[in-house]
Amino acid sequence: AHLDRIAAVDDSVRAFLHVDSEGALAQAAAIDAKRAAGEKLGPLAGVPLALKDVLTQEGVPTTAGSKILEGWKPPYDATVVKRLKAAGIVILGKTNMDEFAMGSSTENSAYGTTHNPWDLNRIPGGSGGGSSAALAAYEAPLAIGTDTGGSIRQPGAFTGTVGVKPTYGGTSRYGLIALASSLDTPGPCARTTLDAALLHEAIAGYDPMDSTSINQPVPAVVEAARRGDVTGLRVGVVKELGGEGYQPGVEARFHEAVELLTKLGAEVVEVSCPHFQYALPAYYLILPSEASSNLAKFDAMRYGLRVGDDGINSAEKVMNLTREAGFGDEVKRRIMLGTHALSSGYYDAYYGQAQKVRTLIQRDFANAYEQVDVLVSPATPTTAFPIGDRADDPIAMYKNDLCTIPVNLAGNAAASFPCGLADEDNLPVGFHVMAPVMRDELLYTVGAALE
Ligand code: GLN
Repeated sequence: AHLDRIAAVDDSVRAFLHVDSEGALAQAAAIDAKRAAGEKLGPLAGVPLALKDVLTQEGVPTTAGSKILEGWKPPYDATVVKRLKAAGIVILGKTNMDEFAMGSSTENSAYGTTHNPWDLNRIPGGSGGGSSAALAAYEAPLAIGTDTGGSIRQPGAFTGTVGVKPTYGGTSRYGLIALASSLDTPGPCARTTLDAALLHEAIAGYDPMDSTSINQPVPAVVEAARRGDVTGLRVGVVKELGGEGYQPGVEARFHEAVELLTKLGAEVVEVSCPHFQYALPAYYLILPSEASSNLAKFDAMRYGLRVGDDGINSAEKVMNLTREAGFGDEVKRRIMLGTHALSSGYYDAYYGQAQKVRTLIQRDFANAYEQVDVLVSPATPTTAFPIGDRADDPIAMYKNDLCTIPVNLAGNAAASFPCGLADEDNLPVGFHVMAPVMRDELLYTVGAALE
């Protein structure tokens, strides 16, 4: 049924880069056979899922939205993918994204923009716009995203779906094509809080293949999503994430949701996080620095594309030509920024300074969590914007991530839950919840209460 739905609507939504009909039907048939034989099935046996094209799946084309990986078929499954398969999940295909997860709209994909199912003239958010659009268009009931600076939560907010960024290290990065290794976090996307929790439980947990994986039990996310009891929960509204520059309809829905939490028994206070205002500039130094280093491996020798390999050019020239042709503008912009920020003579002034700011932001969180259990804000300053609106203005695009980025710098858990439609444009608004490291269950408590 989901493959039929994809065939019917994806020409206009364009959530998928690759639909693996054959593979999906084979997985489904294998599950049927197991069931017929009376064998034990995984906890989510037969549930279809859309996979962001930044995670490797053995033998299935994987591009990370880039021309430089065109034609590459990974020889192994990412840990997340291995766990999906073990849970019995059927993977429908790979979803569109901004190239190497750099962007907030999917307009930076080398394979065209995904359209927001709520209004096809608008972007679905990014970088994981394909995954969230697939959910909103009923092409899949579950999806996987990755969140480095908001790429699960912001598309979740723009498409009226649930997007959860687990604690950094709570889900494995093994087999995730790296953007910024100290920030990247795979996580669940779904249409309901409980669905997201069930998927969260299936993919999370310690992985010896990832050196930053946390060796602790997975937080009790499913139980929290089932109960949704906020009685006595201390909720902090972040003073700095609201006001000027925020769309009135976004703020209205956000404050209504806060009132609802109060009515349900939560204790709401205002909390100040004074260094959050520096999160965006710190992020746009740390991320390009790590990205420029991570992307050095695309050297024309190992993966996908190779240009100028005619026996005349040197290896260096082939590398230059391939990177010139294979990377898009935003990727080149960040490689240059990052290389500059890391270069000798500038390292302390840029990268070093940004790391200090990162520590101050972590302290803001630590101080806040002495007073409250969770922090809340709108997930984004505005609703989904029209395609093309910000494509030529990187700074305007970066501002999308004002609310989501502080969490990534601190490594905490966070999520966006739908909280209604803005009055101005009837587009979905996301309610952003942030929780301390390895307290991911608190997100689901709030999400379930709001549902
Ligand atoms: N908009 C952010 C960026 O462009 C999102 C990154 C992400 O979470 N992958 O860096």
